[in-house]
Amino acid sequence: MGKQWGHGFFKGKEEATKLWAERDIQFAKEYSKAIRDWIFENIDENMKHSGRLMLGLCPFHKEKTPSCTYDPLTDKYHCFGCGKTGDGEELARGYCCDIEDDFF
Ligand SMILES: [Zn+2]
Repeated sequence: MGKQWGHGFFKGKEEATKLWAERDIQFAKEYSKAIRDWIFENIDENMKHSGRLMLGLCPFHKEKTPSCTYDPLTDKYHCFGCGKTGDGEELARGYCCDIEDDFF
């Protein structure tokens, strides 16, 4: 596989490929940090601290008493009302959509 890639064009291509891969990794890091900030912002706005968990109204079903918990350590949420589970990004997306009309 990689053995004939020892010289000339192929070597250059290999290095270029490596550089692109490194650049992509860098982008991925920044992207995930931006996503993380966005997730925590949304969760912070919509949930309250409850011990080591966050507690708030579930964005995925109608409820008046908060039954949705989010664990910042594992980045997982669980709703005791509708049983939905998932990661923080999914939860933040839920809070982010236009769901206010359903609640009021
Ligand atoms: Zn729910």
